[in-house]
Amino acid sequence: MATLEKKAMMGRDMFFSKIRAFPENAWDRTECFDSELYIPPYGDESWKLTINLRIFYERVDPDKMLGPTLAAIARSKGWVVPAGNVGFYPDADDDAKWIRDWTQAEWDSFLRNVKNQAALWNHKFWLVPTNNYDTFDKVIADPKVSGQRAKYRPTVECLFNFEIALHYGYAHTTVKVVNVYGPNFFRSHNRLYSSGDAVIGPNESQDWRGNVVKTKYPVIAHEIGHSLGQPHIGKLRSLVLCGLAIDWERFPYQDALPWMFKGGSNADVCYGPHSAAGDIDNIMGAGDKFSKENGKPWLDRFFRHLNLSNTELFRAGGSWQVTTTKTPPMRLA
Ligand SMILES: [Zn+2]
Repeated sequence: MATLEKKAMMGRDMFFSKIRAFPENAWDRTECFDSELYIPPYGDESWKLTINLRIFYERVDPDKMLGPTLAAIARSKGWVVPAGNVGFYPDADDDAKWIRDWTQAEWDSFLRNVKNQAALWNHKFWLVPTNNYDTFDKVIADPKVSGQRAKYRPTVECLFNFEIALHYGYAHTTVKVVNVYGPNFFRSHNRLYSSGDAVIGPNESQDWRGNVVKTKYPVIAHEIGHSLGQPHIGKLRSLVLCGLAIDWERFPYQDALPWMFKGGSNADVCYGPHSAAGDIDNIMGAGDKFSKENGKPWLDRFFRHLNLSNTELFRAGGSWQVTTTKTPPMRLA
């Protein structure tokens, strides 16, 4: 959990306008991002809640000393050895995989792809009040009929402003990035990416009926979802098979488990395989689709921007929901 520093909104003390997050330690970056709530002066425009996330990408090159030896081994395997050093680096499964030096052009192109994939999270969700939640209703001069008044109930547009930090001291989190080499699959996690993640590749998984579901899988956008605090879709939607995998994580006879149940909430079934097509193709599964569950970081952060009494906050918590449909403020009268 990060430490949150809140700034009151000028002239409207029911709200905090800015929240800045400071990581408390290296291993827990829960809710570690900044945010800003903007309330336009006119009631017929949606409010804007922007999450700001800054990540510092640390380029990992192979060890210079071991380079020549490892290059000789690679050559003996019949591989084409690139210019520069080659080496090994452990992936998320702790398997040592071949890596090589980055060229400047490759690194620049990688960072461009990071920005493009991060942008997939922008402008995907709206927060809407339900249960006749009227605390923020506003009466304004009717924008359509001069001399008349009109009452509006606000909605919140969710924006994502992603930045590549130039220094780790200015970042919410640091991610190491390796340049993979050779015919290996390198499994990434949210603190370790590989050059292969920049390519939005195809993925095929079977649903519970055994039908093949074809998806496009932007791995970096998925990892950014983790940085926003999202778990895998199986945990997010409490899918039965993922629940079993999580229960079995402490099972002493791991070898006896079918492979798709190994790894707790990182088990294959938690990405959506053997569930419904709409689970597999989610961004926190193995696809590129966004659903209302993925808007939770904005919903949670919205409540932190409300400087209300506990009773009012409880009422707000039971009323506001995420939608993926563009929803302008509601005109009531
Ligand atoms: Zn993941």
